[in-house]
Amino acid sequence: MENDVISKVYGTRVFNDDVMQRYLPKKTYQSLKSTIDSGQDLDREVANVVAHAMKEWALDNGATHYTHWFQPLTGVTAEKHDSFISASSDSRAILEFNGKELIKGEPDASSFPSGGLRATFEARGYTAWDCTSPAFLREDALGVTLCIPTAFCSYTGEALDKKTPLLRSMEALDTQAQRVLKLFGKETARVDCSIGAEQEYFLIDRDAFLKRDDLIFSGRTLFGAMPPKGQELDDHYFGSIRERQGAFMKELNEELWKFGILSKTQHNEVAPAQHEMAPIYDTANIATDHNQLVMETMRKVARRHNLECVLHEKPFDGINGSGKHDNWSIVTAEGENLLSPGKEPHKNKQFLLFVAAVIRAVDEHAALLRYSAANAGNDHRLGGNEAPPAIISIFLGEQLEDIVEQIIDKGFAEHSIKSSHMDIGVNTLPNLRKDVTDRNRTSPFAFTGNKFEFRMVGSSQSIATPNTILNTVVANVLSEMADELENSSDFDSALDSLIQKTLKEHQRVIFNGNGYSEEWVEEAAKRGLPNVPTMVDATPSLIDDKTVKVFEKMHVLSKVELESRAEICYESYSKALNIEAKTMLEMASKEYIPSVIEYTTKLANSINGVKSACPEADVSVQSELLTTTSKLLKEARTALLALDKSTKKGSEMEDGVDRATFYKDVVSTDMANLRNPIDELELIVDKEDWPVPTYGDLLFEV
Ligand code: ADP
Ligand code: MG
Repeated sequence: MENDVISKVYGTRVFNDDVMQRYLPKKTYQSLKSTIDSGQDLDREVANVVAHAMKEWALDNGATHYTHWFQPLTGVTAEKHDSFISASSDSRAILEFNGKELIKGEPDASSFPSGGLRATFEARGYTAWDCTSPAFLREDALGVTLCIPTAFCSYTGEALDKKTPLLRSMEALDTQAQRVLKLFGKETARVDCSIGAEQEYFLIDRDAFLKRDDLIFSGRTLFGAMPPKGQELDDHYFGSIRERQGAFMKELNEELWKFGILSKTQHNEVAPAQHEMAPIYDTANIATDHNQLVMETMRKVARRHNLECVLHEKPFDGINGSGKHDNWSIVTAEGENLLSPGKEPHKNKQFLLFVAAVIRAVDEHAALLRYSAANAGNDHRLGGNEAPPAIISIFLGEQLEDIVEQIIDKGFAEHSIKSSHMDIGVNTLPNLRKDVTDRNRTSPFAFTGNKFEFRMVGSSQSIATPNTILNTVVANVLSEMADELENSSDFDSALDSLIQKTLKEHQRVIFNGNGYSEEWVEEAAKRGLPNVPTMVDATPSLIDDKTVKVFEKMHVLSKVELESRAEICYESYSKALNIEAKTMLEMASKEYIPSVIEYTTKLANSINGVKSACPEADVSVQSELLTTTSKLLKEARTALLALDKSTKKGSEMEDGVDRATFYKDVVSTDMANLRNPIDELELIVDKEDWPVPTYGDLLFEV
């Protein structure tokens, strides 16, 4: 059945299969399809014809410009626009776009972080067309622009972006999973990894947002006392959606549908003013591009409603932050989900082998996976009793954990726990079948039926890196498993013992209990699982020998590429904290302190005025307030000077691990010392004299 609202807009801005069939000669279409579907080399002549068709389609839809759309290591997208215009000999403008312009761009993007891979004097960087992610038209105040998804690499072929390693990791996973499937007697054209990224976000009134420099410059509040009401009533979670936010969601959905993004679920989240959108899953590369478009579109649409979409991982202290649940599975071209347990999972050896591979990969590279979810913002969220801790563990659920235990004990499993019916106790309600396992929201990496859900990822992050890492470490384990099984004389018994051995060796990473509890932190330490609190602590895992070996073997990233990425991590961490510190200094010295001084003057005037009018009147309340306020004011001023000093020192340090560590240990402590007295003052000072909107204003008056 078709629904007019959805079918009228769905995919209208995408150079999708339907458009390709209409605009391309049959032969070209088939050739391009085989490149997209089974990774065959892209033919130059085909590219020329596609470029022409893409231009025709874009012009038919009102486009004036095109851009190579890429994802440098900043984590956001980048683009440089060119118009289709060229001059003809008879001084008329003609519109041109050829295969060369489609395939390759040279944006001279020398200012993007390269972690030492490019010196400015040899700054050539190229963008290369990624035909596996469809081109799309963006329509906004700039007009209509044809956006061509591209990879970004250096003159010497090193990856300078997030897409290239993701594509390489998908190829690695494809190759290795195919080897394993072959052992089970299966042939497939391709094994893909599917991703569904649930996106959490806050919506704040834009007028209020614009009054807070901290939100503007750093994306999160750097000051702010808790309002009288927080999220304790759980009345926002799944609450009915108010009309202002609803109008935003309606427009967001329509915009996303036009891009072919299957926006599916929307709801209010736990924190006040927090919401979530989940699309239907797609292959990793497209899902990654789509998630970038989702974030961009959320920001854009919010502004049309005088709202600001805040994507930071922890915009408000004491209030739940935002994440991005990265649902990950492995699927064949024929649609077989390799993580689907089937009716009798204990007998499904192929499934058990793939699950064992994931368990081993996650255990062996736990610190690296923690790294994959690291940014300065997420440090405030992970481990804060609202999000997974900074320890990686796997939740398997009752049924699968039971099977794992049987295998470890006996070498094989005899039965699977079956689902039963729920008794709700009301005759008129339908008889529901229970899922075989309950959920565990506290696990960073949970098996949820036929996929793993990686819940650590931060809301503002690109999902490219987490999935690149996940694909690579799993591909590596699959390759070793394939080596072993290919060389065995008796496949069935080799398979059984490989599954048992793997589960035995890596059982420590499985944890079904409460991941938010203190006991788990202790228990995890006993099991030897790494607990990595910050991005700075997580980054070394990117360049340790184990990682380099696996990433080079799987041809995903070379040692030099990994090292450059580590450099960029340290750099971006220091920069993020430097901006936060400078914003705090500015807000404290130009807004908070002057306002507090004004308030103390008011109190002093009141004391003097009351006393002279009536010498016997009691002014102890004003005096007490004046004493406390002045004490906190002094504290704030002292902390401000300390922060100023450490920030200056940090700014002068050379980039690298030492500088990042200095920001993590010294500057962030000085930041907290400045925040504390100001937050206390917020609770004392007259609302009228407080210079910025409070948490109450920001979170409850949207
Ligand atoms: P929940 O988190 O409640 O389990 P859903 O089952 O609806 O919610 O799925 C959440 C997200 O996971 C959605 O984006 C969905 O498209 C995605 N998803 C579902 N199945 C898969 C799969 N096999 N591989 C990857 N993502 C999936
Ligand atoms: Mg989920």
